[in-house]
Amino acid sequence: MAQLRLYNSLTNRKEDFSPIENDHVKVYTCGPTVYNFAHIGNARPPLVSDILVRLLKQLYKEVTYVSNITDIDDKIIATSIEQKVPIAELTKKYENVYNQNLKDLGVAKPDHQPRATDHIQEMIVQIKELVDNGHAYISEGHVLFSVKTFPKYGQLSGRDKDQQLHGSRVEVASYKNDPADFILWKPSTSEQPGWDSPWGFGRPGWHLECSAMSQKTLGVPFDIHSGGQDLIFPHHENELAQSCGAHGEIEDINHYAKYWLHNGMIKFDGDKMSKSLGNIVYINDLLKKYNGEVLRLVLLSTHYRQPLNWSKKSILQSQKMLDKMYRTLYQIDGEVSKEAVSPPKEIIKALCDDLNTPEAIGKLNILFNDFQHAKGKQKNELLSQIMSGASLLGLLNQKPENWLGYQNEMDSKDLKEVEKLIMDRDKYRLEKNYKMSDQIRDELTALGIEIEDSPQGTKWRKT
Ligand SMILES: [Zn+2]
Repeated sequence: MAQLRLYNSLTNRKEDFSPIENDHVKVYTCGPTVYNFAHIGNARPPLVSDILVRLLKQLYKEVTYVSNITDIDDKIIATSIEQKVPIAELTKKYENVYNQNLKDLGVAKPDHQPRATDHIQEMIVQIKELVDNGHAYISEGHVLFSVKTFPKYGQLSGRDKDQQLHGSRVEVASYKNDPADFILWKPSTSEQPGWDSPWGFGRPGWHLECSAMSQKTLGVPFDIHSGGQDLIFPHHENELAQSCGAHGEIEDINHYAKYWLHNGMIKFDGDKMSKSLGNIVYINDLLKKYNGEVLRLVLLSTHYRQPLNWSKKSILQSQKMLDKMYRTLYQIDGEVSKEAVSPPKEIIKALCDDLNTPEAIGKLNILFNDFQHAKGKQKNELLSQIMSGASLLGLLNQKPENWLGYQNEMDSKDLKEVEKLIMDRDKYRLEKNYKMSDQIRDELTALGIEIEDSPQGTKWRKT
């Protein structure tokens, strides 16, 4: 079996992966703050984890995957007031939409999806440990982490002390001893949500939530912590400092998680997606227009560490590729079994190279080409490999006739004939053999079929 190699943000290099516990790999990915629809950028971290977990399951006996829900946060409180909706109702609604969106993208649900509000006691325990160990102090009803007590602070993000402060407000809150210190617990008013604690009625800081929930569900250290590059600083840097500090392990930077994976951001026609530019693309809206599998393929077509440019063109390309694959599958008689054989070695090998999904998709395309030229037994073997490889990538999950939208319209024998002609015509057009492609068009017209060539490929209907 191929050796899995992953780019570790903690060491800034690709490393051989070896699990802490033999044959049981533990993965944690920061989940969403649920107060609005998730945008397409929010889909990338869980999709990267989905591919990672699918691959790990091929390589190891047991995998536990955890991704949280942040259901207490200042943005949630503000939205609840603004929309006059109780917090629990607001967060439950968007948690459900998020999970349904990911399901439509073919992302499997985590083994555990802890909610922050169910882990307040664990957070209080961790803050107490930090205070006892001298890493946290109490000031004006707040509890703060004292960054200077953790000398390795900055190692994950590679920021020095000045850069750590970059972007923070010029005016430093009066309760902070040092501008770099961050909140572990803050006071709530009687109108705000809160919990009783040794430091008064209040609520946790965001960074602390992940430290408490990952420890509760996976134990520390665990193997892989992942999330978007935008979380490296300060969120992940702070998680790391808190978890090491709470356990008195400030010298061991691997005490919390051994490998840190970070995905690149999504750009929108070259621009950053942002509220101010008004170019935010919500998954929910995209799913009204496109099949989730098309969106999944767009996201997998760029390596996870690279920025991904979201464009209409990339959606159409993915649509076209899947249409072609489904059209090929449609020609096959009988049910196609999905996981009869192990996934092709070349696809596993590509994914083992730091989750190189573009390479893996390329290999899948090659198998499809080979399939079209193969005969007899070899054809069957290639088909099993294709289906198993596609299943590993979470693609080709639908019935070809459903994908192509051809149920109940025509007799299936006639449908296959039409599909065959369209595929032949596509081939001739690609070869610029217009004489043959026109001849096929005439044949189709004679059969009462009208065709239309679009950027997504050829569409047809019975006249
Ligand atoms: Zn987190």
